[in-house]
Amino acid sequence: MSELVIRGLHVKIEDKEILKGVDLTIRQGEVHAIMGPNGTGKSTLAYTLMGHPAYEVTEGEVCFKGQNILELEPDERARLGLFLAFQYPVAIPGVTVANFLRTAVNAQRRALNPEDKGIPIPEFRKLLKEKMELLKMDHTFAGRYLNEGFSGGEKKRAEILQMATLKPEIAILDETDSGLDIDALRIVSEGVNALRGPDLGVLVITHYQRILNYIKPDFVHVMMDGRIVESGGPDLALHLEEHGYDWVREKIENGVAS
Ligand code: ADP
Ligand code: MG
Repeated sequence: MSELVIRGLHVKIEDKEILKGVDLTIRQGEVHAIMGPNGTGKSTLAYTLMGHPAYEVTEGEVCFKGQNILELEPDERARLGLFLAFQYPVAIPGVTVANFLRTAVNAQRRALNPEDKGIPIPEFRKLLKEKMELLKMDHTFAGRYLNEGFSGGEKKRAEILQMATLKPEIAILDETDSGLDIDALRIVSEGVNALRGPDLGVLVITHYQRILNYIKPDFVHVMMDGRIVESGGPDLALHLEEHGYDWVREKIENGVAS
């Protein structure tokens, strides 16, 4: 079973310390949620895990499948089975969704077997069709340029389509709910739920509890000021929805946070 182990992670960006000692373990088959106010370092954690060059790790370690991944490039991390769905996916004009995904699938196959000739087109078409149906995407979507002129909901669906096609072992979803109306949120969540299972570990990063009504987490963590200050079960998310984050802040100030 694969696990992602984060220990004492400190991260700086432009000389400002953002993460101040994060500890978290995510195993295949588990769904974790990180909630927290804006600006507390949730996206910083996601980007650092994927290896964004702007984020400097000053202390701590991140191991995936027993390997220290902090020494790996983002594409190497992806080929190991780590996936990040972006909060703000970028557009790639000139590259269609289908071509982008086929290139990604082939890179993954070649990492396993350098002799691989690439996925046969009919097999790829079948795979893509199946995953697009899962996410209730119109078939014309595959021929559009990636994220170019996509609505917020389409961008998020395109991210989950990548996840469905690449079948990662650990997936990080950074605010996949932001900018989605309730129908799009349901479709995206159903897609994630359909991919859930013993082979997939998920980290759902969110500001709002709403998405957790659809993607039920096994564990909920609260991030504040660059640290995980509270962890619990699904009830913690409901408690936060009702009472906000002030009680967590007070607990920290009184020095009794876990
Ligand atoms: P969250 O996702 O929890 O809203 P972020 O991780 O995006 O928080 O941001 C945490 C802090 O790091 C914020 O104060 C933000 O302004 C700062 N920050 C994030 N990215 C950058 C960047 N590229 N350059 C400078 N500061 C950044
Ligand atoms: Mg963020």
